[in-house]
Amino acid sequence: MLRAIVSLLCCLVVISAASALGHRPSPIEEQRQRMVRVIERHADEPLDARVLKVMAEVPRHEFVPPARRGAAYEDTPLPIGFGQTISQPFIVGFMTDLIDPEPTDVVLEVGTGSGYQAAVLAQLVDRVCTIEIIPELARRAATALDEIGYDNITTRIGDGYFGWPDCGPYDAIVVTAAAASIPPPLLEQLKPTGRMVIPVGGPFLTQQLVVAVKEEDGTIRTRQVLPVRFVPLRREP
Ligand code: SAH
Repeated sequence: MLRAIVSLLCCLVVISAASALGHRPSPIEEQRQRMVRVIERHADEPLDARVLKVMAEVPRHEFVPPARRGAAYEDTPLPIGFGQTISQPFIVGFMTDLIDPEPTDVVLEVGTGSGYQAAVLAQLVDRVCTIEIIPELARRAATALDEIGYDNITTRIGDGYFGWPDCGPYDAIVVTAAAASIPPPLLEQLKPTGRMVIPVGGPFLTQQLVVAVKEEDGTIRTRQVLPVRFVPLRREP
């Protein structure tokens, strides 16, 4: 009897010692943590810790074409087909930080692309509506998001210039393709105190990342925060 109790106690000691050592990160988790440290070093001002935590969790390799997976955790944009790219991780973190995401927020993303930015947002807010103009990319992103298990992201094929009124109004809007100027329908769909981040400028040139805030009285206040380079916001022919 005593021997049984002693061996049970030994067993418990071994189990608690193992759990004290904690979860050992897998090689992919280590790569993600390294990517987050690169993002942190890149930022002039510290990014929200919640955003960095989410970026250490979202499996970016699931959103890049299989042939590019080896580079999934480098801080660089990667081609996703159809002349489009998954944004650089630093830019994804920076744009997410700029909209001050809150757990109750409803957010619109224009330019689903791979679905990665939508996944990062979805872990920080209540609901994400994301719209993509290239049907194949929209379908591929919807499948990836579904397979990973996101249930608070709604995807749609369409021209995001006009926003998505039925899914909003929005606490925040993230536009991931460059527009010549801020599309008025997007400003309309922003709630009072809503925040928008959008690259503004000519196609294939350096654009300015602009933050637009809608005041309580509807006034729009904008500021430029960073020179960036995005693919153009397409218009339907
Ligand atoms: N957010 C994406 C980055 C995508 S790149 C990601 O995390 O992977 C920009 C995307 O915007 C491209 O997929 C492009 O097809 C899409 N796009 C361009 N013009 C658009 C428009 N008018 N409406 C919706 N999507 C558009």
